[in-house]
Amino acid sequence: MSVETQKETLGFQTEVKQLLHLMIHSLYSNKEIFLRELISNASDAADKLRFEALAKPELLEGGAELKIRLSFDKDAKTVTLEDNGIGMNRDEVIAHLGTIAKSGTADFLKNLSGDQKKDSHLIGQFGVGFYSAFIVADQVEVFTRRAGAAASEGVHWSSKGEGEFEVASIDKAERGTRIVLHLKSGEEEFADGWRLRNIVKKYSDHIALPIELPKEQHGEDAPAEVEWETVNRASALWTRPRTEIKDEEYQEFYKHVGHDFENPLSWSHNKVEGKLEYTSLLYVPGRAPFDLYHREAPKGLKLYVQRVFIMDQADQFLPLYLRFIKGVVDSNDLSLNVSREILQSGPVIDSMKSALTKRVLDMLEKLAKDKPDDYKAFWKAFGQVLKEGPAEDFANKEKIAALLRFASTAGEGDEQSVSLADYLSRAKDGQDKIYYLTGESYAQIKNSPHLEVFRKKGIEVLLLTDRIDEWLMSYLTEFDGKQFVDVARGDLDLGKLDSEEDKKAQEEVAKAKEGLIERLKGALGEQVAEVRVSHRLTDSPAILAIGEQDLGLQMRQILEASGQKVPDAKPIFEFNPAHPLIERLDAEPDEDRFTDLSRILFDQAALAAGDSLKDPAAYVQRLNKLLVELSA
Ligand code: ADP
Ligand code: MG
Repeated sequence: MSVETQKETLGFQTEVKQLLHLMIHSLYSNKEIFLRELISNASDAADKLRFEALAKPELLEGGAELKIRLSFDKDAKTVTLEDNGIGMNRDEVIAHLGTIAKSGTADFLKNLSGDQKKDSHLIGQFGVGFYSAFIVADQVEVFTRRAGAAASEGVHWSSKGEGEFEVASIDKAERGTRIVLHLKSGEEEFADGWRLRNIVKKYSDHIALPIELPKEQHGEDAPAEVEWETVNRASALWTRPRTEIKDEEYQEFYKHVGHDFENPLSWSHNKVEGKLEYTSLLYVPGRAPFDLYHREAPKGLKLYVQRVFIMDQADQFLPLYLRFIKGVVDSNDLSLNVSREILQSGPVIDSMKSALTKRVLDMLEKLAKDKPDDYKAFWKAFGQVLKEGPAEDFANKEKIAALLRFASTAGEGDEQSVSLADYLSRAKDGQDKIYYLTGESYAQIKNSPHLEVFRKKGIEVLLLTDRIDEWLMSYLTEFDGKQFVDVARGDLDLGKLDSEEDKKAQEEVAKAKEGLIERLKGALGEQVAEVRVSHRLTDSPAILAIGEQDLGLQMRQILEASGQKVPDAKPIFEFNPAHPLIERLDAEPDEDRFTDLSRILFDQAALAAGDSLKDPAAYVQRLNKLLVELSA
C-alpha cells in the first residue's frame, strides 16, 4: 500500500452520528440495500464525470469506458466496489463523507424519539445513502482521486462508523473511487459472488453503466488473471420500451433517481416524437421528504441530453406546486452545453414544461381514479403543496381543482376526502353554488353557527382548515361552472334553494325588526359595519359575517404574522329574530342593560367564529353582572 501523508482524524457532524445510529438499527432487516446505495453513488459519479468531460475531455484520461467493478475476498471478509467516475478531492471527501448538507437535517433529527420502531420510518423520509455501508461493515475505507487531479492527490478515508473518521493523502494511479467494506462478523454472507450478483440484479439492473463481477471460476485450470463479467443490463432504463420494463425495475430506478428508500406511488413514462423529441419518466413519491417545505430543498428532474447526464435538480421543467415529482427528462433538442441560465426560458423549455405539467396532472387524476387509497396517501403527503397550484398555474386551474380533496359536512370526520366532483354529485336541486367555510381547525368549525341553515336544508358545506385555504380560495372562484361561496361572507343568498315564500317571509321579518336593528346599531356602535336580520341561523342567537370584500380571519393572521399591517375590517352583526335571547333583548326597556346584552351577544358571536376578543375582561364582567342579577 502506498505511503500515507497528512493524516488527520476528524469527528462526524452530530447529525451524521444520529443518522448512522438510526440507520444501523432500523435497516437490519433490509441490509442488502447498502449495495444499491453505493452503486447509485458510483453511477452518479460516472454521470458527473461524463458531464464535466464535455467541456474538458482530458478528464477522461484515456479511460472513457465508465464502469463499476464489484469484488470480494472471502478470507479477508471484504467487499470492494470500484468506479472510474469523477472521484473526490480531500475537501470533498471531508464534506461529503463527514457531514450532511441537507438543510433542516438537525431539526428533522430532533424528532427522533429513541424508540427504534417509531424512528425507523423516519429513515424513509430522510434517505439512506453512503452511510448505509455501516449496516454491514464495521470498518469502511474509501480510496479516491478526482478526475484531472495528479496521482499524488489521492485521498484515503477510513472509519469504524463510531463518531470519527481519518483522512490521509495517498497516491492513486487511477481516477475514481474504491470503497472497501470490512464486513461485520455475522455478515460474511456478502463476501460471495452468487449473493452479490443477485443483489445487483435485484436492485441495480437499471443502472446504465456496466457493473462487473469476477467471472465464477470452475475447475483446476482457472486463469491467473481475473476475468470480469457484466451482470446488469447496463442500458438507461428510460430508453427502453415501456412494455419491456417490469414494475420492479421502475421502482428500483425510482429509488436511484429519487434518492428514496421506498417505492413510488405511481409513474409515467413517455417518449415524445415530432417537433420536440424527448423522453420523460416521472414519479410520484410515496411520502413527503422531511424537507418538503424548506426553500433550499432539492427539487426538479434529472436532465439528460441525448443520454448524457447534464444536471440534477433541473427545476425548470415543472411548476413549483409539483416540486415533489421526481424523475428524468432526456431531451434531443437541447444542446449538450446547456446551462441553468439558458434553461430559464425559451420556447423549447416552455413547451416541455407545459407538456410535463399536463402529464403529471393526468397521472394524478389516474391515480385518484384507479387507486383511491394510494391517492389518499398522496393527498396526505402533498395535498398542501398541490393547493399552491391554482395561484401559480392559471391555465390548469380546473384540472388542479379536480384533484383537490376537502373535509366536508358530508365527509368522514376531519379527513380530507371529498372531491369537488363528489360534492357536486350530491348537490341539491337548484343548487348552483359550492359552499365552503374556512377556519383554524375542523373541531373549531364543524359546529359553527354559519352551518345551521345548511344543516337544516341538508346542503353540504366544504370545511377548509389548512393555513393556506383562504388564500387558495381567493384564486379558485369556480369549478365546473359553479361559483364558490364562503358561507361566512356577505349577505348569504341561497338562490333557488330558498323558496319564494321563504324570501318573502324574510323580508317581512326584516321590516318588522327595523326598530331592533336601530337599537342594536346604537349599542354596538363602531364595532360593526352593519346590523341585519340573519337567515343563516336556526339555533344560535347571533353571528358575525365578513364583508364581501374584507379579508377573512386566516388571511389576517397570515399577514399579521408576516409583520404586515392589516386594514381594520368591521364585521356584520346578524341576529336570529326567532331566538328567545333576541326576543328577550327586543323587549328590554332598560337601555344600559340592552347595551350590555348586545355586547355579550356580539362577543359570543366573535368567539363562535374562532376569533379572539379585543377586550375579554369586559366580556367576562358583563356576563358576570348578568349572572349575579339572575341569581339575586
Ligand atoms: P446522495 O447520493 O443522496 O448525495 P450519499 O450519502 O449517497 O448521498 O452520498 C453523499 C455524497 O458523497 C454524494 O453526493 C457524492 O458527492 C459523494 N460520493 C459518494 N460516493 C461517491 C463516489 N463513488 N464517487 C464520487 N463521489 C461520491
Ligand atoms: Mg447516494
